[in-house]
Amino acid sequence: MSQSPTTSPTQDYDPSAPLLEVKDLQVEFRTKAGVAQAINGMNFTLNAGETLAILGESGSGKSVTAQTIMGILDMPPGHIAGGEIRYRGQDLLSMKPERRRKLRGVSISMIFQDALSSLNPVLPVGWQIGEMFRVHHRMNRKQARQKAIELMKRVGIPAAEQRVGNYPHQFSGGMRQRIMIAMAIALDPDVLIADEPTTALDVTVQAQVMRLLKELQVENNMGLILITHDLGVVADVADKIAVMYAGRVMEHTDVFSIYSTPAHPYTKGLLESLPRIDAEGDRLSTVPGLPPTLTDMPPGCPFNPRCPYATDLCRTDRPELLPVADGHTSACHYREELYAGTITAREEVQS
Ligand code: SF4
Repeated sequence: MSQSPTTSPTQDYDPSAPLLEVKDLQVEFRTKAGVAQAINGMNFTLNAGETLAILGESGSGKSVTAQTIMGILDMPPGHIAGGEIRYRGQDLLSMKPERRRKLRGVSISMIFQDALSSLNPVLPVGWQIGEMFRVHHRMNRKQARQKAIELMKRVGIPAAEQRVGNYPHQFSGGMRQRIMIAMAIALDPDVLIADEPTTALDVTVQAQVMRLLKELQVENNMGLILITHDLGVVADVADKIAVMYAGRVMEHTDVFSIYSTPAHPYTKGLLESLPRIDAEGDRLSTVPGLPPTLTDMPPGCPFNPRCPYATDLCRTDRPELLPVADGHTSACHYREELYAGTITAREEVQS
C-alpha cells in the first residue's frame, strides 16, 4: 500500500537512524498528593522488524510510555520532564503539534486494550476502517469500503464482504480486536504499539491475536512495541524485553536471556509465578506485596519492600541500570550474583 507524500513526510528523516529511540525519558504527574514520577529515565532502541515487550504491573509506567510515544498523554496532569523520543532521527517531543499529529496512525500507530470502548458503537466497522483511507488518502466511499474489506480479510475476519456493514457489538471480542488491528495497520505504519492487546480475551483467542500481530509485523517489517503485564504472552513474539517497576526499567535484555538468566529479583519473581505444566503442588508462586505509590517511593531500591534478597544497602542506595552481560542490564546491587545464580534469599517477604 503506498502512502501519500502529503501524509507521511518521511523524506525529512535520517535513513541511517534507528526507527525509534527513547533516551532518558522522564514523565511525571503533578497531583494534589505530590509529584508522581511515572517514568524515570527510560531508554531503548527499536529497529524495523523488531519486537520490544515492555512488561510490568499496573502503574509501572508501561502504558504512560506508550501514550508519550504516541503523543496522546493527557497534559496536564502529565508533564514530560526530560528526555528525547526520536523517530528516524527526529525528536518527536520538539516537533510542531501539527506535524506530530500527521505521524499518528501513518508512521506510528497504536492498538488499545479495550476494543469495545475504542470502536464507535453506532458506526459500521467497515466505515470506521475506511475512514483512515478517506481522511489520509482522500479516497471516495466506494474505494474506502473496498480497502476496509481487504484489511478485514488480511486480519482474518471471515466473510468480510458480508460483515463490512456490521456494527462492533455484532462481533466477538477476538474479532473486535482484529478490527482494531486492521485500523492500526491500515496506513502501513513503521511502528505499531500494542497496549495489552489480548488482556480482555480468552487464552486461545489471545494466542491467535498474538500470532496475527507477529505475522503482520514480519510482512510489513514493522517495529512492534508490545505492552503487557503477562510474561507468558511475550515468549514467542518478543525479541527484547524491558521489565518496568515503579516507573523505572529494572531489567532490559533479549527474550532468551530473560527466561534463562534473569538478573533482577522482580523478573525472577514474575518468571516463578508463571504456571508450568511440570510443576508439582497446587499453589502458584506470586511476587509478594504491592508496588509502591509513585508519590511516596521507598528510599533506596523501589523494589526493596518486596524483595527477598534486600540488604541494608538496598534500603538506602538506589541501584542504577548497569550491564551484567553483553546487551543485558539490570538495576540491582546484586545483579552479578543473580545472573550467576549464586544468591540465596535473605528473608521471607510477607504478602
Ligand atoms: Fe532486591 Fe536489593 Fe536488588 Fe533491589 S537492589 S532488587 S532490593 S536485591
